[in-house]
Amino acid sequence: MRKSFSDLMSDVILEDICCYCGACGAFCENVFYENETPYAKNCFDCGMCYDVCPRTEINVESLEKKFLNGVREDETLGFYREIICARTLDEEIRGVCQDGGFTTTLLVHLLEEGIVDACIVAKSYNWNPQPFIAKSRKDILESAGSKYTQCPSLLALGKALDEGLRVAFVGLPCHIQAVRKLQDLDYAFNGEIVLTVGLFCMETFNSSKFFRYLEEIGIDLDSVRRFDIKKGKFIVEGDGRREIPIKDMKHLMRDGCRVCLDFSAELADVSVGSVGSPNGWNTVILRSEKALDVFEGIKDKVEVKNIGEKGLNALRKLAEMKKSENMKNLKASIVR
Ligand SMILES: Cc1cc2nc3c(=O)[nH]c(=O)nc-3n(C[C@H](O)[C@H](O)[C@H](O)COP(=O)(O)OP(=O)(O)OC[C@H]3O[C@@H](n4cnc5c(N)ncnc54)[C@H](O)[C@@H]3O)c2cc1C
Repeated sequence: MRKSFSDLMSDVILEDICCYCGACGAFCENVFYENETPYAKNCFDCGMCYDVCPRTEINVESLEKKFLNGVREDETLGFYREIICARTLDEEIRGVCQDGGFTTTLLVHLLEEGIVDACIVAKSYNWNPQPFIAKSRKDILESAGSKYTQCPSLLALGKALDEGLRVAFVGLPCHIQAVRKLQDLDYAFNGEIVLTVGLFCMETFNSSKFFRYLEEIGIDLDSVRRFDIKKGKFIVEGDGRREIPIKDMKHLMRDGCRVCLDFSAELADVSVGSVGSPNGWNTVILRSEKALDVFEGIKDKVEVKNIGEKGLNALRKLAEMKKSENMKNLKASIVR
């Protein structure tokens, strides 16, 4: 029998495993959000919200085969064709990006070459990320940098597909899972998802807890220029620099992240992060043939080097850590 929003409510929302990706509300005008929690009015039981949710059943191997045209040999990182270190050669992007600026450089290239009409990104409103349809280099640069709370990016994707746009989508592993589940439905949209770019992710923070915590420890959001997570530290740069051990912030983690086993956005065409690379560089995992193609197109816009065994081990270690820690929570939630 088809599942409906009430099943989503019992299996995901009431279990506290919703990741607020926006998928359930992106293709249904009867799903709304309050305090980052979905609710429905006048649901007509079509089941799409349940089918696209990254927290309901997902067959990763089958999606990997369908969208990446490969079968994983590496259980920790998923299927990939190449892993490299890269950083942008664009000075302006270097000034606004989080790490090596590979993501922003790639998006600008796709847009300026006419490969896409728009990019779905997360724009910061005083560090609160909101889904945004970027249609120019300026839009993309204004949305660069990491925001460490959850963004319902699928909401902008739904709107862009409705408008008939060809898009590149940037998101966390949970977003990418939702996008692949959506594509797997073979639903006829007006627009098209041309490329998915996944960001490495250990977890996001629950936004109300996170912003309250920053206030309590005396951080004025208006003065923050950059947040970062490196080597077990949460770093705040603005009026000076603060470093907080990430283990002291574990209580701020979004509940819905505790059951996620995907660190490296295993279903994305291309995954981007920093672990495994020197400061100011990105670790880039090229997974699909499409990713290899677009990478060819930006070779003169980025500097590239080998990741090396040490870098690869650091990446594997973090991905493995997320899987093993969250597997315990997943088992506990199934038992419950
Ligand atoms: C919540 C979070 C946790 C992360 N954890 C890790 C980690 O543990 N280890 C690691 O190596 N890397 C992690 N990353 C990835 C890292 O912070 C950089 O995003 C990545 O290295 C890309 O760098 P860049 O210079 O190419 O990014 P940029 O060129 O600055 O582009 C970043 C892109 O990400 C989008 N974005 C920013 N925040 C969000 C968000 N919350 N949701 C969706 N899209 C967003 C922006 O709109 C922009 O398009 C994390 C990122 C996020 C957002």
